[in-house]
Amino acid sequence: MPRIAIVRKDRCNPQGCGGYLCARVCPVNMEDKDCIVPGPPPEKKPIIDEKLCTGCGICPNRCPFGAIDIVNLPEALSNPIHRYGRNGFHLYSLPTPIFGKVVGIVGRNGIGKSTAIKIVAGALKPNLGTDEDADWTDIVKFFKGKEAQGYFEAVRDGKIKVAYKPQHVELIPQTMKGKVHELLHKVDERKKFDEMVKELDLLDVLDRDITEVSGGELQRIAIAATVLRQANLYIFDEPSSYLDIKQRINVSKFIKSLADENTAVLVVEHDLIIMDYMTDLLHIMYGKEGAYGVVSLPKSTRTGMNIYLEGFIKDENMRFRDHEIKFLARPPQKPVSKVTLTSWDSMHKKLGNFALTIKEGTIGRSTVIGILGENGIGKTTFVKMLAGVIESDEGKVDAKVKVAYKPQYLEGRNDELVMNLLGEATQKYDAQLIVPLEIRPLLLKPLNTLSGGELQRVAIAHCLSQAADLYLLDEPSAYLDIEQRLAFSKVVRDVVEQRGVSVLIVDHDLLFIDYLSDRIIVFEGVPAKHGEVTGPFAMEEGMNKFLTEVGITMRRDKDTNRPRINKPGSRLEQEQKAEGKLYYG
Ligand code: ADP
Ligand code: ADP
Ligand code: MG
Ligand code: MG
Repeated sequence: MPRIAIVRKDRCNPQGCGGYLCARVCPVNMEDKDCIVPGPPPEKKPIIDEKLCTGCGICPNRCPFGAIDIVNLPEALSNPIHRYGRNGFHLYSLPTPIFGKVVGIVGRNGIGKSTAIKIVAGALKPNLGTDEDADWTDIVKFFKGKEAQGYFEAVRDGKIKVAYKPQHVELIPQTMKGKVHELLHKVDERKKFDEMVKELDLLDVLDRDITEVSGGELQRIAIAATVLRQANLYIFDEPSSYLDIKQRINVSKFIKSLADENTAVLVVEHDLIIMDYMTDLLHIMYGKEGAYGVVSLPKSTRTGMNIYLEGFIKDENMRFRDHEIKFLARPPQKPVSKVTLTSWDSMHKKLGNFALTIKEGTIGRSTVIGILGENGIGKTTFVKMLAGVIESDEGKVDAKVKVAYKPQYLEGRNDELVMNLLGEATQKYDAQLIVPLEIRPLLLKPLNTLSGGELQRVAIAHCLSQAADLYLLDEPSAYLDIEQRLAFSKVVRDVVEQRGVSVLIVDHDLLFIDYLSDRIIVFEGVPAKHGEVTGPFAMEEGMNKFLTEVGITMRRDKDTNRPRINKPGSRLEQEQKAEGKLYYG
């Protein structure tokens, strides 16, 4: 069986274990062979020889940092397309762009999605598992007889022109300088500046410097900059991050409209409802995070999505999750709690030019409340008022309740260890928080070395480990992959049931809000001008109100019950609108 050895360099600390514990416990080394040896300076991280390794499993078990993985690969895998150095991440197979179609890629963080699309985009030259970049002749030969052969021949012959929106838009202001309109004009090869600015709602930010725009604005600028280029393959890596639901729908329609007989589109995305809405075909990526990734053959989106939830790819005989993700057709209606946890009068708050009006409301015990609304409409302001971080101008919050709060924007600026921040929670809530949120491997890391998703999980655990009656989580799904979002949903359910507390969640992932919430608070109004808060409502009433505002209707998939957005103008949409039942007809 093919075997690869992975050393996670970010975790490995060869001095911290008393000096190469992995090498000292290796039975092959004990026979005087060099299976595990110190690597080259300056890092000197161990190197594992996969040919000598017997797969005994001792070193991965003994490494105190969880830095080693010895993986027995599925039989069908032979040579990787790319590896990040010896004992680094290995990628097998690639997604296939198809003209006239939007092709999606779903999979966990760290499974190689960005790597795969960088290769397809020509931004990363694959090394075919060697220590050097391959040349085009080798690459085409590698794919001989496979679907990707034609694609890479076209790349080799200069027939494919790619425009690519990278995942991390927040890094753009570090490398680009100037005003938004200047930057967009510079890339306007298709002479569609005015049209794109209108489509992506960028008129108000054109005169601003690129360093002075919000995350959601930056995302739309990056999408505009990609689409303004003349290309026959457009690639979007996580286009929904920082966008609210209205913007996600808008951007999806827009991305969909790009595909035609001369143009192919590839998208990586974690918002499954948006992915379902936007794509025609789907690749599933599986493997082991940080170790190796495999791209499945393309499926129709509906089939692919259902396979993803099932965790089993039948025609490739590959189980990548040990359980199915299930949705209920009619979630059990929980009775509204009679015990009031907190309540608020009708309130007002003015911040600069923005005015927030809040209708009186009540939160009962043991309830999960989803908060839906556009960006800039006052959600964070409201949450901060409930948390007592800012005062209301008029009216007040019943202050007797104890609140724990996870802010929207996280800061991991100091080098405090995760373990210290979480303190006794690491023991007390090991089963409830630490294990399901995958915090264990992070305990020895300083906060300022965590990735976005790692910091998010630590911040969630920190919030939920406080003693409180009401927990406020502002945009917890940001940077989390779909598996982590679902794991988090389960954590919230457990906390609510076992402690009898309530949780408020502001988020833009509808699948996640739908899966989790008992009740809904809705924000309406005009972003940056005024917001009106009503609720909490029962699910159906709240969702109906929200979907009316956004202008979409939803149904459940007939096989898996997962929520889906109806096609605009479809018979179903018309029927549901006529009945006034925008949510699950
Ligand atoms: P995804 O987009 O699915 O989250 P990526 O393609 O970004 O995954 O990364 C896959 C794996 O490859 C990760 O474990 C990451 O640590 C590793 N990796 C990514 N870029 C590099 C690099 N430049 N050098 C070494 N390892 C990398
Ligand atoms: P959301 O969380 O729904 O995106 P916020 O509550 O963060 O919205 O912001 C609502 C509006 O209030 C935005 O237009 C924002 O620019 C404005 N705002 C927020 N805080 C302040 C402040 N301290 N001073 C002036 N305006 C503010
Ligand atoms: Mg990525
Ligand atoms: Mg906010």
